[in-house]
Amino acid sequence: MDYRELWKAALGEIELAIPRPSFITWFKETAVFEISDGIVTISVPNGFAKEWLQSKYNKFIIRALRNVADDSVRDVAFVVGRASVDGTGVKTKERQKVRLIPTVSDEMQLKDLHIDPETGLNPRYTFENFIVGSFNELAHGAARAVVQNLGSAYNPLFIFGGVGLGKTHLIQAIGNEIAGSHGAKVRYVTSEKYMGEIVEALSNQTINQLKERYRKVDLLIMDDIQFIARTEKMQEEFFHTFNVLYQQNKQIVISSDRPPSAIPTLENRLRSRFEGGCLIDVGEPDLETRLTILKAKAGEKGIALPEDVFLHIASVIKNNIRELEGALTRLALSARTSSATPTLEETKKILEQVAQAPKKFTSPKKVIKVVADFYEIMEKDLVNPSRRKEIVKPRQIAMYILREELKCSYPFIGEKLGKKDHTTAIHACKKIDGELKTDLDLQNSIKLIKEKIYSV
Ligand code: ADP
Ligand code: MG
Repeated sequence: MDYRELWKAALGEIELAIPRPSFITWFKETAVFEISDGIVTISVPNGFAKEWLQSKYNKFIIRALRNVADDSVRDVAFVVGRASVDGTGVKTKERQKVRLIPTVSDEMQLKDLHIDPETGLNPRYTFENFIVGSFNELAHGAARAVVQNLGSAYNPLFIFGGVGLGKTHLIQAIGNEIAGSHGAKVRYVTSEKYMGEIVEALSNQTINQLKERYRKVDLLIMDDIQFIARTEKMQEEFFHTFNVLYQQNKQIVISSDRPPSAIPTLENRLRSRFEGGCLIDVGEPDLETRLTILKAKAGEKGIALPEDVFLHIASVIKNNIRELEGALTRLALSARTSSATPTLEETKKILEQVAQAPKKFTSPKKVIKVVADFYEIMEKDLVNPSRRKEIVKPRQIAMYILREELKCSYPFIGEKLGKKDHTTAIHACKKIDGELKTDLDLQNSIKLIKEKIYSV
């Protein structure tokens, strides 16, 4: 493997384990610049990326490199510099003969870099390459209806569901369709980016321009709105923008990882606005649909695999389309390096690595943090003996997860969460276990929490 292939493989691993926007933001225009003495030096486009990769993704990059290369990788270092196609763009003592620009799945990755600055849309998300099966046909139908009757069919359209199930793809497809053929003004933004824009506008005193910008669109798409509840200022801002648009029959499309009723500090006035529109659960694909998606993706990427390999992948990767894509990338890579189509046995091995990797990296600390974040309470309230009503349930859920996922002992769980004795912990786990049998919202919340504790 040359540097470029090595980095490509490592990126394939990293892409599987971190949220797509972070991956695109922080890993674009990175490359392996040099390897010497077990230290892999990565070139990054600017100081900001360097800082961020160093502080947040350091361990992660090492782990990925070790997985794809071997344990001789001791550490990573970062240099600011842009790698160019022929490898001559980075100014240092030794020039590499290899190309330094990473290409994960070449074309896809390149397209990700072409986000339209005006609309915020990524052109790779279209209706044409969105596969419809029984699980998402409702969401797809609503999205199509919105395109045909902008502002009047379903307003707002609120699509929710777990990670990697096509929410972003679908809502951006609406945007691309409207911006392309209807020539209307579209703005796509994630709630986190929106929050950043507001903070910046406030400090530059450009808040009026920002308001103006959002209030003159024909279609506003807000992705991952669950984060909006974190700050009052943002909810306030969004509420007013929402109303201005709504009153003029402008279309609003929203996505979230859960229904409005399950976003803890969402203001009632926003919640009732959302619930007044069209709420759709994107659902999870059944085996047959997963197989269709997988084959279509393989077709797009030009990967040919035996039927039993397709079937195996679709059977083990159940609820995340992004992971289906990730598995394909891995297999394609192994096919390229060994220049043979992977067999079923090899596929099993490769997928096992993919499936097991994240599990190792959770801890009681992480569980507590994720549960606190999810319910928007302080970690210290979970670990201290507070009896406040809004704390009790999240604490029981944290106890349940420590037991189920990490097999912690009851005395440990009790002590860790609220300095309680083991009977309290046993009681909590039993209680949650019982409620899970009938409470769909709770099932969904716990599913989301689990996804988060195993992600970075
Ligand atoms: P979410 O926003 O729900 O987390 P994404 O929209 O980011 O999920 O989807 C994850 C990946 O899976 C993306 O690369 C997307 O293109 C792909 N994907 C999801 N659903 C579909 C689908 N129905 N057809 C084709 N690709 C899909
Ligand atoms: Mg998304």
